[in-house]
Amino acid sequence: PFDVLVVGGGPAGAASAIYAARKGIRVGVAAERFGGQVLDTMGIENFISVPYTEGPKLAAQLESHVNDNGVDIMNLQRAEKLIPARVPGGLHEVKLANGASLKAKTIILSTGARWRQMGVPGEDQYRNKGVAYCPHCDGPLFKGKRVAVIGGGNSGVEAAIDLAGLVAHVTLIEYDSDLRADAVLQRKLASLPNVKIITSALTTEVRGDGEKVSGLVYKDRNSGEHHDVALEGIFVQIGLVPNTEWLKDAIALTPRGEIEIDARGETSQPGIFAAGDATTVPYKQIVVAMGAGSTAALSAFDYLIRLPAE
Ligand code: FAD
Repeated sequence: PFDVLVVGGGPAGAASAIYAARKGIRVGVAAERFGGQVLDTMGIENFISVPYTEGPKLAAQLESHVNDNGVDIMNLQRAEKLIPARVPGGLHEVKLANGASLKAKTIILSTGARWRQMGVPGEDQYRNKGVAYCPHCDGPLFKGKRVAVIGGGNSGVEAAIDLAGLVAHVTLIEYDSDLRADAVLQRKLASLPNVKIITSALTTEVRGDGEKVSGLVYKDRNSGEHHDVALEGIFVQIGLVPNTEWLKDAIALTPRGEIEIDARGETSQPGIFAAGDATTVPYKQIVVAMGAGSTAALSAFDYLIRLPAE
């Protein structure tokens, strides 16, 4: 069995694997797609000490750094079931889609999350070419330009307030007749001069010039009429969904599906830790996920050294 089995090969999983392997113990990583969300990212400008890199390059560097530390990488392996140890200090089991089963003294869950998409024409074509999901990451790219934020929940309204300080103009588009964000955020949003709020609106299309976004089309749900908005960027904020469906019966999740962890990264099951976007960690960012992965690995090691000698 592994001493530490990491499930998920994004920034959190890579950091966990490297920190654990440097303790001289047996570490494996099973990942559906090594690199994770980083593979879908173009420019990265907030990976501290590296002013600019690109997702595929960072993903390749993560993989080679993990490899250099003697970690057993099982790429293209999807975990389908987690069976926590039945006795304290026993082995946990992870069942893979290919039928194999992996056993480990500790597990670190780092299966990340995915942004919910609008599913409208043009969204795929213009992803990273004006269609964005992360204001902390891509906001500064739209300095002085016009953007829309899709979604009037807390994350959409927070994004609109954040972007209003950077860009020329923000149009917030909400499907419902009212915004769902906290009142204090709505008051702040309403006080900003360069924000327009459109409710009862369904985004139906992302428009572009072949190279990048040039606008969007929405349908007024009251009148049924379609309207064009000319702009350079669209931030989609209709939900970040944790990849934790397979963990429902094994460990405690929040109603939104995030893995509940404590400050040391431990889940509701002793010996099972978690890190990154799949968890309750407040901010979903590469450096945050890496820090959390390191914490989870050190906590797993701390757990291992307290197990009775075999
Ligand atoms: P992920 O990167 O989501 O990795 C999850 C891993 O788990 C993957 O290997 C996946 O294949 C695997 N996995 C999932 N389910 C299973 C399963 N059942 N079995 C096995 N493996 C599984 N952050 C920044 O800091 N700066 C940026 O500029 C930036 N830009 C972004 C741009 C885009 C388009 C997106 C989508 C995100 C961006 N982010 C950025 C956010 C950042 O990518 C995430 O916060 C970070 O990747 C989270 O790391 P993670 O390891 O927790 O999860």
